Amino acid sequence: MTTNRPGGAAVPPEEVWNTRAYLHHLPTVFEAVRNEFGPDLPLLHDGHHRMTPIQAAKLGKALEPYDLFRLEDTTPAEHQEAFRLIRHHTTTPLAVGEAFNHAADFRTLLTERLIDYVRAAATHFGGITPLRKIMDTAAEYQIKSGFHGPTDISPVGLAAQAHLGLAIHNFGIQEYMGDSEATHSVFRQSMTFKDGLLHPGDTPGLGVELDEEAAAAHPYQQAYLPCNRLADGTIHDW
Ligand SMILES: [Mg+2]
Repeated sequence: MTTNRPGGAAVPPEEVWNTRAYLHHLPTVFEAVRNEFGPDLPLLHDGHHRMTPIQAAKLGKALEPYDLFRLEDTTPAEHQEAFRLIRHHTTTPLAVGEAFNHAADFRTLLTERLIDYVRAAATHFGGITPLRKIMDTAAEYQIKSGFHGPTDISPVGLAAQAHLGLAIHNFGIQEYMGDSEATHSVFRQSMTFKDGLLHPGDTPGLGVELDEEAAAAHPYQQAYLPCNRLADGTIHDW
């Protein structure tokens, strides 16, 4: 996603953010979805690290009637101790860690049982082995996997996580966005997704082959995630 300044320089697109409006609006969304689809549909939400701990606590509490599967990325993730306050106030299950790259980033969160799902990604966390180790630690505290799965971790990262998910006892859920035809033409995959279930396939290794000739047909294009500004222009977490 990109916009261009005069002269052609790519800059991130901007969105306006209002936490107070968000905290008032979001429970009404979940109320409407629950009323429409009933009690069984698992519902998830990502807060994109936009709240303070007390705002996150308030949101978790407000969403309790709608029985979320998990509430993700409520506060800036590096502040592990902030989750004590959130956890103290709400029974809504919590998830964090998509930006983490070291086991120490999870230490307080796991040992104090402050989260329910580990959001780490094989691509950011050092590969399969560190991810396996952190999931073994998480298992001691009844915490499950909920690995990061946007398309930018690539089919290679997703395949690594799919294999690991099959191997661990405390698998929880795997985020999955699906890939474009262009991505499938470059990354030849044995992985399949059907009826909500992801399977890594039976091909040896990760089951993903990179076709460099196909990749050459897709030159690099500069792109950014959006950024948030408050009404007064202040930059806010995206
Ligand atoms: Mg997130």
